[in-house]
Amino acid sequence: MLPFQEQVLSKALEILKKYPLCDHCLGRQFALLGYGVENAERGAAIKLILTLDANALLPAQKRKGIKLLKILISHGFFKTAKETLYKITGKTLKGQSRTCYLCENKFEKIQKITEKIVEKLGAYEYHNFVIGIELPVEVEEREDEFKAEFQIKHGENLRNEFGRTIGKKISEKTGKPVNHRAPDIVVLLNPFTEQIRLQINPLYIRGRYRKLIRGIPQAKWICTQCQGKGCPKCGGAGKMYPESVEELISKPILEAAQGTKTSFHASGREDVDARMLGTGRPFIVEVANPRKRLLDLKALELTINKRAEGKIEVLNLKLADKNIVRKLKKAEATQKLYRIIVKFDKKVSDEELILLEKKLSRIMVRQKTPRRVLHRRADLTREKYIYKVKVKKLTPKMAEIRILCQGGLYIKELVTGDMGRTVPSVSQILNTNATPLELDVLEVMLKEE
Ligand SMILES: [Zn+2]
Ligand SMILES: [Zn+2]
Repeated sequence: MLPFQEQVLSKALEILKKYPLCDHCLGRQFALLGYGVENAERGAAIKLILTLDANALLPAQKRKGIKLLKILISHGFFKTAKETLYKITGKTLKGQSRTCYLCENKFEKIQKITEKIVEKLGAYEYHNFVIGIELPVEVEEREDEFKAEFQIKHGENLRNEFGRTIGKKISEKTGKPVNHRAPDIVVLLNPFTEQIRLQINPLYIRGRYRKLIRGIPQAKWICTQCQGKGCPKCGGAGKMYPESVEELISKPILEAAQGTKTSFHASGREDVDARMLGTGRPFIVEVANPRKRLLDLKALELTINKRAEGKIEVLNLKLADKNIVRKLKKAEATQKLYRIIVKFDKKVSDEELILLEKKLSRIMVRQKTPRRVLHRRADLTREKYIYKVKVKKLTPKMAEIRILCQGGLYIKELVTGDMGRTVPSVSQILNTNATPLELDVLEVMLKEE
């Protein structure tokens, strides 16, 4: 067996005898040998050593030496070999190939492509990026066959080299790092067609909101009559309520981030007629295609709160990532604290209210989907835990009840009993009709925080 360096050289020569390759593409076949050097330097170094070898064959084995030089010129496009041949024979080689078999000389365009990409990126604010290389199928197949033909063991593939090289050049120009895990922008490049597309990943802003007044839905509520087109029922607005928590929060964020649209995600929702107080309810706004990302969140908070003054307010805005959306959506198992004002059909004694506290604390409530939401929710039976209930008498026929429970419990139905669909209930325990008057969410507790 040949010593290792001779194995490399003889393989390189075997390759060049058959196919024209640029420095990048020759060096890439040995990419895993030697760190801190680019494939182009590696390829040029191999070609240089082969040129020295050819030169050393002269004058004793002139034919062999000249043949080798001609290979390096015609299939290696190698300048030193060309000059060496001219020095020895006084001739230049005519009609040599100029196109690399693997990359079709696309590496020569890298500088120009990099500049185009940097220009496109200039329209956006971003922390980091990644390059995604799209290759024509035939180019990839050609490389696979090539690697099999020469049993390449220490090579890198073309896609990798393009991605890595261009990524590095863009980093040098912009000062932004490449990030493979969660890039702000994915640059999709086909080096063969020179098509460049930017995929702008969403911006996520999280926080908590408080809803200070009743009568505002959490989400924009599309008109059920016209499905948003505008009709007499909705006064042409296409929605049931002029404002929603979602819109009041999302609009200023969309304007600041200069994106194309927003999606609003929250940890549960309160009814239109319920307030959301205390430290607020966690939410995330997802902005599609943001041009701005380096936002002053404190200023944004002030803008939202000023524009929605007296209706809602946000607190603690922070940048978030995609994973938090998933966490937020399945955060139902957390605790919530409610306050509800209840009216009874009869006078209720202090003893009865003490009994109510006892019978509702530390129990599991069985709840079928409330009739009022059956049109949009599946008819299921849920079991939700109540940790603690506190009752305060307001008048002989009215009380304030505070309920600390598992998220997802329907509070109004816990009061009315919903025609026996919620068991137990305030109505059932007191043996009277209990009617909810005002509902507030006081706390939403998330495990993740
Ligand atoms: Zn090449
Ligand atoms: Zn309508």
